Amino acid sequence: MLDGKLLIGGKWKTCDRKFDSLDPATGDVLGRACLAGVEEVTEAVKVAKLAQESWNKIDISERAEIVARIGDELLKKSQEIKKLITIEMGRPLFESNIEVSKTSEIVKYFANEGKKFLEGDEVPINHDNFSFTRYEPVGVVGIIKPWNYPLLLPLWSIAPALISGNTVVFKPSDLTPFVGIEIGKICQDAGVPDGVINVVTGDGFTGKSLVSSDIDMISFTGSSDTGKNIMKNSADKLHRISLELGGSDAFIVFKDTDIEGAINGAVWGRFMNCGQVCISPKRIFVEDDIADSFIEGFVRKTMELVIGNGSDPDTDIGPMVSKEQRENLELQVEDAVRKGASIKCGGKRPLSLQNGYFYEPAVLTGVTYEMSVMNEEVFGPVAVISAFENMDEAIALANMTKYGLGASVWTKDQDIAMRMSSQLKCGMVWVNEICTLHPQCPWGGIKHSGMGKDLSRYGIREFVSIKHVNINMGTDKTRSWWFPYGKYG
Ligand code: NAD
Repeated sequence: MLDGKLLIGGKWKTCDRKFDSLDPATGDVLGRACLAGVEEVTEAVKVAKLAQESWNKIDISERAEIVARIGDELLKKSQEIKKLITIEMGRPLFESNIEVSKTSEIVKYFANEGKKFLEGDEVPINHDNFSFTRYEPVGVVGIIKPWNYPLLLPLWSIAPALISGNTVVFKPSDLTPFVGIEIGKICQDAGVPDGVINVVTGDGFTGKSLVSSDIDMISFTGSSDTGKNIMKNSADKLHRISLELGGSDAFIVFKDTDIEGAINGAVWGRFMNCGQVCISPKRIFVEDDIADSFIEGFVRKTMELVIGNGSDPDTDIGPMVSKEQRENLELQVEDAVRKGASIKCGGKRPLSLQNGYFYEPAVLTGVTYEMSVMNEEVFGPVAVISAFENMDEAIALANMTKYGLGASVWTKDQDIAMRMSSQLKCGMVWVNEICTLHPQCPWGGIKHSGMGKDLSRYGIREFVSIKHVNINMGTDKTRSWWFPYGKYG
């Protein structure tokens, strides 16, 4: 049984109150982690403030070297980390392995490129006068993250935050505290100095305490509702905030596409990580002429997926992360069926896997915008498919949502691709591609999917303020626009 402590000022501290972390494939308790309250959070922010002064004095190249070692440590410990991810949140080992290597790639990308992205600009004004800009760290960054990519999402913020001279108080999800603790250990092994990274495990109240603390910035990934709460609670202090929130991405298939490729992409995109992915195609729209054959192929491939414990190498679909997440999904499917949707396959708890939070991947058709599956994020293995007549209708249907994270378009026609990419109201568009990310490309949504960017040169700049410096080296004793104004009378 794992015993979780808090990392504050370089020391692992225990606490009075604890909570259980469960293996979602069995319901067994994996370990007990600390439930940090206001006192522990306040202490973590205080030590992070002290540490920030010296961390920011270290040359950026040296900070980047330390961060690069986090990337090395991840690869060194990848076997243990991937197993921990799988037993704590249920995903197949194959996917956990990809998460570890992708995280290392992103950390190293920021370590290699961060310095270049934070070089200021020179701005000539006139003969005597010039300006320049300087990127300065925000201070202490509170990083609050969800459970669905418990290693990647924290480190894609921690790495740029540290390189740019900030210190961090990190709050992992209450469903994956031990992966969060592992991140603290890896940072220590990489040589991140005491107090520069602090880990406070806990629940929503712990996160709220961090938002209400003397922090300088909150970098948040999670649901839109929590994002809105964070924005409200940050208002009084005017913290800098970056919000990566939920999505209901459209997957739009035109009749000229390679239908088999589109089906393969849609089935993988919708069901990998048990459908618990922010950019998963949550509303699939198919051009009328090919809708029936698309649905037939999609259902057939869905029924071939192997459901089981993520630790079994043959498993395609692990359990959902928790009892509550599965119950939410079941309510959404019930709502759709009550309002007229048809279930083409799946949509129930598998009889052979009664202990964990398993759910047979489902395909729904006959859906309308009266149903929660079309209006709210569906965060589990349920695919929702409907048809469209022409491009204008596809655009209208895809944009008929409060979310604006991503979208995926399937066509061989470049004109269609370009028109769709300009008219879809979201932060990211993939064409003939689905659920990919590249460290060098910006990540983030609009509308209820959030604000700010992760990854790329834009991502690191979320963690800095731009200081403008203007210098006049001339010898003039006055300016034509200074007092006294009467001189022009
Ligand atoms: P969640 O909002 O329930 O929790 C996220 C984190 O916020 C957790 O650490 C939680 O303890 C904390 N929290 C809860 N209440 C809080 C409060 N009042 N103040 C501060 N912190 C609080 O989300 P979740 O269920 O963990 O994650 C799933 C959601 O995350 C989905 O909506 C998914 O789309 C979204 N997500 C978005 C992206 C993206 O890049 N846009 C990536 C991954 C996940």
